[in-house]
Amino acid sequence: MTKKVAVIAIGGNSLIKDKDHQSCADQYIAADETSKHIVNMIEAGWEVVVGHGNGPQVGFILQKAELGEKEGLAMASLDVCGAQSQGQIGYMLAQTMHNQLRKKGIDKPVACVLEQTIVDPNDPAFKNPTKPIGGFMSESEAKAKAASEGWTVVEDAGRGWRRVVASPIPKEIVELDAIQALIEAGIVTISIGGGGIPVIRKENGDLEGVAAVIDKDFGNSLLAREIKADLLLISTAVEKVAINFGTPDEKWIDKMTLAEAKAYMEEGKHFKSGSMAPKIQACIWFLEAGGKQALITNPENIGRALRGETGTLITA
Ligand code: ADP
Ligand code: MG
Repeated sequence: MTKKVAVIAIGGNSLIKDKDHQSCADQYIAADETSKHIVNMIEAGWEVVVGHGNGPQVGFILQKAELGEKEGLAMASLDVCGAQSQGQIGYMLAQTMHNQLRKKGIDKPVACVLEQTIVDPNDPAFKNPTKPIGGFMSESEAKAKAASEGWTVVEDAGRGWRRVVASPIPKEIVELDAIQALIEAGIVTISIGGGGIPVIRKENGDLEGVAAVIDKDFGNSLLAREIKADLLLISTAVEKVAINFGTPDEKWIDKMTLAEAKAYMEEGKHFKSGSMAPKIQACIWFLEAGGKQALITNPENIGRALRGETGTLITA
């Protein structure tokens, strides 16, 4: 591929700023703001594939399904909830990207690809599910669901019982060729929502959805590796990455090498698990597979970070 291609993983703050801004209208405003910064990148010559998180949205969808079930509606399975979240978030991003491109007079189509990510049914995560999803239940409700639906349920710090699911490592992107064709055609592509809808490949070759969640930074790192992207850009709530984060020795990092990133990861204390650690791991996997550079910053600083003025750049 001759064009400069960036895979951009956008975080939760690009859709929901805080608890008081969760409505569709608020999510549109947040998406529009991030789209503006991404369009500046496109104007500067980048082809982009935008992936996004879906944690709160899939949570809302599931909660609505649970409420609906009490009224006699059929419960939605978790993979289908994931697909719904890709649809609603992808719609919002496709529209805000379109509007922002139009404002700049850039004639570029935008498309959203519903995407399935293959995971390994033997991934150890399935033996030890840890990600809580859905609402709280009483002990008896939880145990009944465990018996009838095969759910794994746990008591959550005295607050009640919850279902937990696995977060397996993404292995393969089903729609990879379609995404690649869109980028080559110069189409702004939105995909890898919530890390992808988790599916397994059955012995007979068929795909089948599974109840799991995929880390969106891992899913986007996989895409960046597969398409040999020039850049993996992780847009999140912080301008830079820190070492000794949240301690008196906290130090904000402008640049680190792959070797330094791996050394900090091994020390274990710098990047919080579940937030920054998966981002650094996503960058490490990308660079180990031949990627040249990964950048972490917040939406408003994307332009400055690309010019080397801020953000945390990780190089091979
Ligand atoms: P996203 O929705 O973008 O994935 P996360 O909340 O999962 O956002 O991750 C971003 C958060 O990671 C930051 O807002 C910050 O509070 C936290 N964080 C944890 N460790 C670090 C670190 N070492 N440097 C900077 N931020 C960190
Ligand atoms: Mg996150």
